[in-house]
Amino acid sequence: MIIDFHSHSNASDGALSPLALIEQAIAAGIRQFAITDHDTVAGYQQVLCQREEWPEDFELRTGVELSCRWANGTVHVVGLDFVVEHPVMQAALQRLGEARLQRAASIAERLARHGYAGALEGAIAEAGQSQIGRPHFAAWMVARGHVADVNEAFHRYLGAGKIGDVKAFWPELGEVCDWIVRSGGTAVLAHPLKYKYTRMKLRRLLTDFQASGGRGLEVCSGRQTADQTRQLCRVAQEYGLLLSAGSDFHQQWQYGPALGVKVSQFPPLPNLWARS
Ligand code: AMP
Ligand code: MN
Ligand code: MN
Ligand code: MN
Repeated sequence: MIIDFHSHSNASDGALSPLALIEQAIAAGIRQFAITDHDTVAGYQQVLCQREEWPEDFELRTGVELSCRWANGTVHVVGLDFVVEHPVMQAALQRLGEARLQRAASIAERLARHGYAGALEGAIAEAGQSQIGRPHFAAWMVARGHVADVNEAFHRYLGAGKIGDVKAFWPELGEVCDWIVRSGGTAVLAHPLKYKYTRMKLRRLLTDFQASGGRGLEVCSGRQTADQTRQLCRVAQEYGLLLSAGSDFHQQWQYGPALGVKVSQFPPLPNLWARS
């Protein structure tokens, strides 16, 4: 069976419309799918009215990827199966949307100090109706010729530890886990290897995550080696976390992950796709 519990549409920083994303997921043979846009469910809500037209064996589960702070850095928690209209989730998304706008203003101020004026207006224009984020600043910098490509924008200005890496506006890890749990969902730690933590630090994160009500771990995120997947499965087993997996698909790209993850590659451990 093929599943995908982590993907992005153009409601956040993905390239495809939510409907085009669903169409690709169905074409890829995916049976269970979640659109997990950054801090918004607008994409999910847009496609719901098309439900009747999808194959019967295709299931769209509710999803979102929430940004939060942990140990002076940014961590992402995927929420699955929550009640979209739940007041706790609605208030959380409202707050995160406001945080993103405030953060965007702060990123723009920092860029202005480095000689790049007009970044806020530029990024807002790039974002359009989408939830604004650093990729929109990167797109503006490329369009303006300030950098050659998005990679350079992140490498020099927006990536971890650079001037545009503003995290002051995010809620704490415990808060976002609580929001997901209270709105009836499952909190899953996203792409655990992407933080580039030491083994010890990842263990500290998992302990805090679990203490906050976190229940799942992405044992496969995008492209990673079979060995990394095996290690993460062992960690999930040790902590008693449910296996989750997703591509973290943003756009069709030669070096990027395609949609869909085969679950046959995972050991038979408690997971989020074998619901009866
Ligand atoms: P934000 O949600 O505003 O913090 O932006 C983070 C998003 O930027 C991630 O979800 C990725 O989609 C994207 N991103 C992060 N690092 C890079 C990078 N080095 N190159 C391209 N995109 C990146
Ligand atoms: Mn993204
Ligand atoms: Mn992420
Ligand atoms: Mn993601």
